[in-house]
Amino acid sequence: MSTTRGLPQPGTSPQAGSGARPRVIVDTNPADVSDVLADVPQQTADDVARAVERAQDAFRVWRATPPPERGRVLAKAAVLARTRLDELARLLTREEGKILSEARGEVMKGINLLEWYAGEGFRIGGKTRPSEMPTTVLFTLREPLGVVAIITPWNFPWAEPAWKVAPALVAGNAVILKPASLTPLVARRYLEILEEAGLPKGVLTLVVGPGSEVGDALVAHPAVRAVSFTGSCEIGGEVYARAARRLAKVSCEMGGKNAVVVMPDADLELAAAGIVQGAFGSTGQRCTATSLCVVHREVGRRLIDAIVDRARAIRVGNGLEDGVGMGPLVDANQLATVLHYIEVGRVEGARLACGGRRLTDGALAQGYFVEPTVFADVQPGSRIAQEEIFGPVLSAIEVGSLDEALRVTNGVRYGLSSSIYASDANTIMRFVDGIEAGMVHVNSPTVGGEAQIPFGGIKWSGVGGREMAEEGLEFFTELKSVFWDYTGRARQTNVY
Ligand code: NDP
Repeated sequence: MSTTRGLPQPGTSPQAGSGARPRVIVDTNPADVSDVLADVPQQTADDVARAVERAQDAFRVWRATPPPERGRVLAKAAVLARTRLDELARLLTREEGKILSEARGEVMKGINLLEWYAGEGFRIGGKTRPSEMPTTVLFTLREPLGVVAIITPWNFPWAEPAWKVAPALVAGNAVILKPASLTPLVARRYLEILEEAGLPKGVLTLVVGPGSEVGDALVAHPAVRAVSFTGSCEIGGEVYARAARRLAKVSCEMGGKNAVVVMPDADLELAAAGIVQGAFGSTGQRCTATSLCVVHREVGRRLIDAIVDRARAIRVGNGLEDGVGMGPLVDANQLATVLHYIEVGRVEGARLACGGRRLTDGALAQGYFVEPTVFADVQPGSRIAQEEIFGPVLSAIEVGSLDEALRVTNGVRYGLSSSIYASDANTIMRFVDGIEAGMVHVNSPTVGGEAQIPFGGIKWSGVGGREMAEEGLEFFTELKSVFWDYTGRARQTNVY
């Protein structure tokens, strides 16, 4: 891995002293490292233990609150967030770097999730089934788990907590949220808005600090009944194994290497626009970002030219400024990783069709900017075709048939999102049937999700259940089966 030497670095507080563990996170704008948002105190494993204890007390009260009432707290939070949309979006852009329109979209997505799960307060329920016995009813109840831990990444600092915390709360759990160390302020605003909406203190607690310490303590805590994690495969695999070892419920949403397949009968302009949006939106820092373009060679050259034209037209800069189409990478490490992969692509012999450089002109020198980058003639087995880069780098591969496209696309270890641009219904359905991914888009980019439909991946992209929709709520509940003989005499005939 490249070093970050020579790049602007967000620091830790001088209070830390040499050799001592830093006590604050210096929360810095990735578009301009001289813009320090806050010094955020770091918490420790002891703070986690105290938070869990407090959450256990809060759980007793919250569990007894009727679900529709819990839902109303989320509904009110959605209204409050909507009135603060611009303020929240600006904070998100300053803290994470994505451009303002994308930040607004993210805040709206979180609001949609609050609204969806507010309604779930009226719908949480089980099912009834007939019994083999007379005068007996069978039904199930959905109950909360208790104290649950939620660990989130930096790339969706508002929407990620929203899509995990909202279902956990409406189900009646007490939640400890550990946001990424790079983006604690947006997560804190989420907590504040919920409390302003009426969430009792202690039902949701934020712990801010290094994953290796506070995250680890949460995953290991015996009173934490479930862990919902989103982040990298490397950390996710560890979290999964450690939590499962003590038989906690675990769900991990992880990385992706999402492909768009383009067939000769596709609308090429539509495909180029969708690929550019998927690859360079949010600076490519989305789990669902398009990082592979698998195109039929009949139209390969035309498509790649159209993508390159659009990529070159993107203005890169501070996401708060009008006209900027792509913001910075989130920090020096992410910048170093992306530059490293660009170098790997060159060494592997792929053709650099555009981009490939860090941008340092004028004010850009203060941030972590790179050009939107497209590699063509990429080999399917190469590292830039196989590994998640998590930045604005697209690898294009030419193929001769749908079957070959499916082989290439399924030949990665991930299985999160996918897309096909084509007209023929038969081709599209063969793709939908054959693709190994949790989500399939047709004639639209690989990115995005909606509150009312499950979100998540297979293979290395996800394990332990889907998020959003009813499925996202089910993870945070336990089922209880009830066998009720309402005469007290049915048991005499029971042979089961
Ligand atoms: P990381 O895996 O580095 O971190 C994710 C979270 O885990 C952070 O809060 C981190 O804390 C915490 N963490 C780190 N170490 C531990 C540990 N030992 N025990 C418990 N928690 C720990 O991911 P990134 O934040 O870098 O996010 C990028 C990744 O997230 C990409 O791979 C991306 O694909 C994936 N992602 C997946 C999504 C999906 O739905 N499939 C959605 C969004 C992103 P800290 O910040 O303090 O290190």
